[in-house]
Amino acid sequence: MGLTIAIDGPAASGKGTISKALAAHFGLEYLDTGLLYRAVGLRMLQGEDPVQAARGLTVDDLDADGLRGPEAAQAASRVAAIPEVRAALVDFQRDFAAREGGAVLDGRDIGTVICPEAPVKIFVTADAETRAERRFRDLVAAGHRLTLDEVLADIRARDARDTGRADAPMRAAEDAVALDTTQLSVDEAIAAAIALIERRSGESR
Ligand code: C5P
Repeated sequence: MGLTIAIDGPAASGKGTISKALAAHFGLEYLDTGLLYRAVGLRMLQGEDPVQAARGLTVDDLDADGLRGPEAAQAASRVAAIPEVRAALVDFQRDFAAREGGAVLDGRDIGTVICPEAPVKIFVTADAETRAERRFRDLVAAGHRLTLDEVLADIRARDARDTGRADAPMRAAEDAVALDTTQLSVDEAIAAAIALIERRSGESR
């Protein structure tokens, strides 16, 4: 079986950018598991029961309009606290992780719940203000109209909900390596992650 890399961390820590770059560098498939929760969150905002939405989720839902916006993000973190929603999404994520060619998955519980056996786990962090500035720039560039303070409040609310929930809270697995990107450029963060993985694979040989 190919290499499985588990990347976790809070919103806008840089985990998506790092995960995509790792997938390209090591020739692995990539799954942004936040999209699953965002898709369920959007369907809840459209009036659907979130558990039914999670059970009936299709790949087409992962292309829905507004998936990357702030409303979907907040709705995602609300539905993500419902155990039946999480349970409905486990098999899809585990099947993806078990692909022949190997995979990178990013989220909040990849190293702890979805792929506890992954040989490489990274927990990506950055301070909340830095993450808010990054997310603010991305959202403004995508045409959203909001303030930096609103983005910071959104990030803090999601952090609190994601770490405080009873089922699969966001936390680093015991064997995860921490990577703080607060002071790092995108290129530096990617280089640090690649170096971590190469060191890990060297140790396990
Ligand atoms: O990663 P992203 O910010 O897109 O995730 C949106 C929300 O989905 C998170 O705030 C979190 O509540 C939830 N999520 C989760 N478990 C994952 C991925 C995302 O609970 N593996």
